[in-house]
Amino acid sequence: MDILKLKIRDIQNLIKRKELSYMELIKEVFKRIEENKDLNAFISLFEEKAIKKAKECDKEFSEMKEVPNLLFGIPIAVKDNIAYAQERLTCASKILKDFVSPYSATAVERLEEKRAIIVGKTNLDEFAMGSSNEFSYFGPCLNPINREYVPGGSSGGSASAVGANIVPVALGSDTGGSVRQPAAFCGVCGLKPTYGRVSRFGLVAFASSLDVIGVFSKYVEDCALVLQTISGYDERDSTSANYPVPNYLPLKSNLEELKVGISKDFFFEEMDTSLIKIYEDFFKLLAKNGVRLYEVSLPTMKYGIYAYHLIATCEASSNLARYDGIRYGLNMEAKDIDEFYKKIRSEGFGKEVKRRIVLGTYGLSKGYYEEYYGIGVKARKIISQDFQRAFERVDIILAPPSPTLPFKLGEKLKDPIKMYLSDILTVPISLAGLPALSIPLKYKIDNFPISIQIIGKPFCEKEILDFAYGIEQL
Ligand code: GLN
Repeated sequence: MDILKLKIRDIQNLIKRKELSYMELIKEVFKRIEENKDLNAFISLFEEKAIKKAKECDKEFSEMKEVPNLLFGIPIAVKDNIAYAQERLTCASKILKDFVSPYSATAVERLEEKRAIIVGKTNLDEFAMGSSNEFSYFGPCLNPINREYVPGGSSGGSASAVGANIVPVALGSDTGGSVRQPAAFCGVCGLKPTYGRVSRFGLVAFASSLDVIGVFSKYVEDCALVLQTISGYDERDSTSANYPVPNYLPLKSNLEELKVGISKDFFFEEMDTSLIKIYEDFFKLLAKNGVRLYEVSLPTMKYGIYAYHLIATCEASSNLARYDGIRYGLNMEAKDIDEFYKKIRSEGFGKEVKRRIVLGTYGLSKGYYEEYYGIGVKARKIISQDFQRAFERVDIILAPPSPTLPFKLGEKLKDPIKMYLSDILTVPISLAGLPALSIPLKYKIDNFPISIQIIGKPFCEKEILDFAYGIEQL
């Protein structure tokens, strides 16, 4: 039996029956990491610490009758733009390659309170900017389904680690699709919660008005479990929502209860035709199973990618101004301060990050601000209103998470526009701040599972998870 293919609940059952120990579980994780080294899914590993923690969990459990909670002793991987105290926090950038975080992100702290075990930090596109994980200072991460292909991005390492059955769950971050798209490419579940549902404290800022910490898992239930733990108000993040967190578990299929929206406006011409056919089949399957489908109109979706790149680059240029090499990060010799800044930022940042800083700085500059950032913000508003209108008629909306199948390494590297277009189906949801979960379906093309994105109203993660659970059962 492959224990790392099991649901967390089933792993804990084995432990309860004394058929498995936390130590054996953690050893299996590190064995799997070693066997899959070529994936390059991890930037840092914490083997010694993790083994020590597993030992403590075994010892404590031997004195208890019950496992104290489902995450107790469960291995978890964390994207390397999320802080874990006393460990490196690189954001896959040369500028932070040796930076050690003095504190942990709230999400990590909450997982550790439940005694989940952080096994390592995962690979990503530098500062979470990218859709293929090829923009990492530590080299690209590979897709576990076919190693000639990208795992998606920017949370490629977390998606790849879960997809390769190295860990049952992992944290990622989603600014414009960085959890949902790699989840789809690697055939796993990837949830982007509502903006503000999960504290951003300890998540390195890319575009602060869009950034959210998200969850990767193989099963919807495990995703719900992690979300339950990391959600909720945090006084250290003023944008975290002071809004009650419902009980996500137990999951209960609501396939027949909800009004479900589908929209032609999500089927762009950039989309692979083979994919369109599959979604048509899938919607038919849903209808056959009693799901009530309604066509909704979302005409402004097509502006999402433009608005996103105006807003995200502007916010990024402002957020990344702090990396000047003075207080922390990369250090270099220089004759004066001007040369120092120039050297640090020229050598410390990679090509894609520089491209976005340049674009964003331009977009924020005097005389252009209204024309660029201002227009982006207006478009964002219109897109959000489109969703609001649609959600007056339906409870959730279904859309593909990606316009294409996973692509080969190098395929889109030379053409930034092509790369940016990977995100056309995820960014509108980010702009509207809505929750969305990407889950794999039973259909496959070239061995790659095809996924569906389930989009909900603000703070309606429960409805999304129950719906996903219903699909998982089909
Ligand atoms: N792929 C998108 C980008 O390049 C989204 C990234 C993200 O969500 N962090 O910006």
